[in-house]
Amino acid sequence: MEARVILDLFYDIVKHPWQAARNWKGRTGGLVIGWLPADVPEELIMAAGALPVGILGGEGLLSRADAHLPVWACSFARSSLELGLRGELDFLDGLVMPLTCDTLRLLAGIWEHCLPELRVHPYLIAHQVDRPSAGKLVRAEILRLKRALEKLIGREITGETLKAAIELNRSCKQWLKRFYNWHRLHPEALSGEDLFVLLRAATLLPKEDLLSALSALAGELGLEPGSSPETSGAVGAGKHPVYLSGSVAAPPGIFRLLDEAGLAVAGDDLHHGGRYLVPVGEGSDPIEQLAARQLALPPTGYLNSPQADRPGRLIKEVRRAGARGVIFLHLRFCEPENYDYYQLNQALEREGIPSLRVETDFQGSSLGQIRTRLEAFAEMLGGGIGA
Ligand code: SF4
Repeated sequence: MEARVILDLFYDIVKHPWQAARNWKGRTGGLVIGWLPADVPEELIMAAGALPVGILGGEGLLSRADAHLPVWACSFARSSLELGLRGELDFLDGLVMPLTCDTLRLLAGIWEHCLPELRVHPYLIAHQVDRPSAGKLVRAEILRLKRALEKLIGREITGETLKAAIELNRSCKQWLKRFYNWHRLHPEALSGEDLFVLLRAATLLPKEDLLSALSALAGELGLEPGSSPETSGAVGAGKHPVYLSGSVAAPPGIFRLLDEAGLAVAGDDLHHGGRYLVPVGEGSDPIEQLAARQLALPPTGYLNSPQADRPGRLIKEVRRAGARGVIFLHLRFCEPENYDYYQLNQALEREGIPSLRVETDFQGSSLGQIRTRLEAFAEMLGGGIGA
């Protein structure tokens, strides 16, 4: 099958995001557990024999969620709730909600109130991961989620099944990272939009199916299984490499605008991008491995402390990725990202790295204006600023 045909299948999965889960449930009779990005350990859900499905907002108009959430709640929170209220997520047997920011902390209770038949599991996040107590909290939360899943499936999640789930997910993420690198080197063969479609599909498909589809695509593109999954080094010619920073980039059409403006994604810290791709490391105790991943996740708007030095890390990552500029993709009313922006921007300015901040929402209300601003930014990068 040609690469484009396989990619079209991935596009189809993303266009009908819940179909794969519905099919899987119909075929296997297994449980489907939704999760909100990006700090939930999917591997525990997989080890429970359930299908983890990433809930990442929706593009339709908001009609019901606004009765429960103020308009100044971010559109990720509002449009995700809208999906639930419209019955689009009726295939879910449970939902794991990470208590990342103030919005999601409140949202867990609202979901429980509005959809009492859905089992919502609030998953506590350690916000200052460099504190000695953080490790204890993270481990306790992982074990609490494990117990909740065990109660749901009526049996124990063994260390062996958890190890197998970790292995499988690590393989998937390694492939995704290779595709990321491929996009950096050959943006004409695998566009930014293609890349983020693969990343989104990765949270929707059963991982075994994902792995075989990614391997098939790799074969068609000529990507070696042994090639480095690290995204660093040279960036393909003909496009301006940029680094994307933010929480959730929406609507998905934003990636097409980046492609059309001549920009290639050299790296990112998005919750459904680079942050999701952080794999669980090696080890002998799977609970410890999951905890170590959680503690090693990079600083983000809701996970920050003076020691974490988010600005310093951003600059390092921008340089490592070979990006010539940074685009802040901020969801409207995403408070954590808004708070961090000033500090991050100041740090970039000091380093002479150009940046652009665009505000988006899932309803794509200002895409026309964003297109013009992206084109102007690409033109500026082409003029050698920050080269
Ligand atoms: S981090 Fe930002 S985008 Fe994510 S739920 Fe909180 S406010 Fe919304």
